[in-house]
Amino acid sequence: MPYSYDDQNIFAKILRGEIPNKTVLETEHSLAFEDIAPQAPVHVLVIPKGAYVSFDDFAQNARPEEIVDYTRAIGEVCKMTGVSLGDGNDGFRMISNAGIDGIQEVPHLHVHVVGGRSLGRILPKVG
Ligand code: AMP
Repeated sequence: MPYSYDDQNIFAKILRGEIPNKTVLETEHSLAFEDIAPQAPVHVLVIPKGAYVSFDDFAQNARPEEIVDYTRAIGEVCKMTGVSLGDGNDGFRMISNAGIDGIQEVPHLHVHVVGGRSLGRILPKVG
């Protein structure tokens, strides 16, 4: 089944300039902005400008130049927000929720870059 993109989602509205955002970085194919309800001292969302629902949609259907731009934008956000290991910082977590099981609220691909404090385990340890 093809991916179904709802162009009324809130990040599509941000990209169209219909609602404001606190931009951290804008590139040709990507936009990074502050999460409206931050869960840590650093909580930035990075989205592609193209209409992709989720990371698997993007990985399968985006053009190479979009993928390079998006990947580099995430790296740049890590540097800009002071969480990049390459700068001797303490690291971060990238999260990209997808669909019902992933509990994705906004159906436009976004990576959360979260850091600035110890984040604990992402999933409970079993066994
Ligand atoms: P997810 O559950 O992975 O889809 O996460 C959606 C994220 O979008 C949540 O962390 C929200 O706080 C965030 N969010 C929702 N609306 C906005 C907005 N207008 N500006 C910035 N972040 C938003």
